[in-house]
Amino acid sequence: MKATYIYGAGDVRVIDVPDPSIQQSTDAIVRVVRACICGSDLHPYHHMAPNSAGNSIGHEFVGVVEDTGSEVRTVKRGDLVIAPFAWSDGTCDFCREGLQTSCRHGGFWNMGGVGGGQAEAVRVPLADGTLVAAPVTEDSPLVPSLLTLSDVYGTGYHAAIRANVNSRTTVTVIGDGAVGLLAVLSARGLGAEQIILMGRHKDRTDLGREFGATDVVADRGDEGIERVRELTGGDGTHVVIEAVGYMPAYEQAVGVVRQGGVVSRVGVPQYESAPIGGRVFYGNISLTGGPAPARAYIETLMPGILDGRVDPGRVFDREVDLDGVPDGYRAMDTREALKVIVRP
Ligand SMILES: [Zn+2]
Repeated sequence: MKATYIYGAGDVRVIDVPDPSIQQSTDAIVRVVRACICGSDLHPYHHMAPNSAGNSIGHEFVGVVEDTGSEVRTVKRGDLVIAPFAWSDGTCDFCREGLQTSCRHGGFWNMGGVGGGQAEAVRVPLADGTLVAAPVTEDSPLVPSLLTLSDVYGTGYHAAIRANVNSRTTVTVIGDGAVGLLAVLSARGLGAEQIILMGRHKDRTDLGREFGATDVVADRGDEGIERVRELTGGDGTHVVIEAVGYMPAYEQAVGVVRQGGVVSRVGVPQYESAPIGGRVFYGNISLTGGPAPARAYIETLMPGILDGRVDPGRVFDREVDLDGVPDGYRAMDTREALKVIVRP
């Protein structure tokens, strides 16, 4: 089969690899119907040291179950399934607490002999705990929106949940990438009435307005902070969702959070240390966020997609086949594309 591998910064290739096969009685083999490219895939695309062996890549996919091990009970051949970006047993203490990314027996795609999602098929470990069947077929127009449950929608929702967004909280979302836009959609869904989206790409912030943003601030740095303060009577917002991952976005978040408020980070931080004194301490600011247990949110978020209340799949603005994946990386890196969907 064909699968996408990365060999170093800027070096993404689609190669032939052996077809995946059942190795454990709890495995399933899933034929990929749609995958996508994540903003976090761009981190190795920027920084990975050259490696002649390469590594498979891609962690968001929906597909059809082709085969199952003898112990698999909750999905069966022919089911259209959503795969979250971490696999998990669904039974350990962390899974039962809804933190499947910390599963005691789980793991992540592209590690430990498990392949990636930007491929024709994937071996899914712990299929019962990991996969969720969706009541549609692979030609359903809902498939792109269901695909967002793999990661990007769940991640935006996680940011809002960690910060306890509700009808009494004002929210700033920093970043107009797909996660930021779906954090807007999530905050709206949780009842937030003022949602300020900070982003500079008008086509993206326009979609953000359709998802529920009430204000858009295109300025950054001190000017951006000043604008948000003007919009909030000088105080900033109760919640700031940081969906970028670089230090200036963190500094901006601290600058626009209201005293007593929460900064929730889901932009994978590309820094190891950050200021936590000053405004953070004296303002009683909470810091939260982390990798979303996307699996925990699939059953919560799927009904809104199935009944048409939300259409998170609108974040996809370009489609490629597998051979087009390297160009998809280029298009996301240059911001020609917001988010690329892959149809193997
Ligand atoms: Zn677990």
